[in-house]
Amino acid sequence: MNSVIKKICGEIFPDGFYFVHRGQCPCCGKSTAFFAKTSWLRDSFICTQCGSLPRERALAQILKEEYPNFRDLKIHESSPDKRGLSAMLKVQCPHYLETQFFPGEPRGDIVHGFRNENLEEQTFADESFDIVITQDVMEHAYNPAKAFSEICRTLKRGGGSYFHSSPDKPKPANGCLGKGGRRRETCVSAFPGISREPG
Ligand SMILES: [Zn+2]
Repeated sequence: MNSVIKKICGEIFPDGFYFVHRGQCPCCGKSTAFFAKTSWLRDSFICTQCGSLPRERALAQILKEEYPNFRDLKIHESSPDKRGLSAMLKVQCPHYLETQFFPGEPRGDIVHGFRNENLEEQTFADESFDIVITQDVMEHAYNPAKAFSEICRTLKRGGGSYFHSSPDKPKPANGCLGKGGRRRETCVSAFPGISREPG
């Protein structure tokens, strides 16, 4: 690289790192530039059009491939973000439902514009959804097994659940209830997807 450009980039990006790549964004659908100014691409390699991150784009791509009719399906997303896949689903899917958990508020009610749902004790009827999505949520669950059990219960036969989970070091908010109900810090790097068998 030209030494002058290298010097300028070094001043703009103090970490001495930046990365640009052009391509098609599965979230906003635009031809765009993806840009990162840190080597932690998971949380910095954004689409310059919609701000989506790699994990959101990956999930959007998989969803489109496996459920080309996703716009017609009943989709539940727990704790959505305002960008990326969540924003895409909100605009394109009339049957998309966002939920957040507000402890202390009545479950199933609308609170601050969201249906109040505890992922581990949902008020939805069995087989309510075609697709359930969580993005960087499971690492905050106290009982991830219970959350997955509830997701399976609320999925229709043949439905699917998609999620990603943070590989970050444990934070104060991360944890689950271990044996005897004791809080246990966790560090979850990845889960495989789950689905309900048809029939
Ligand atoms: Zn985009």
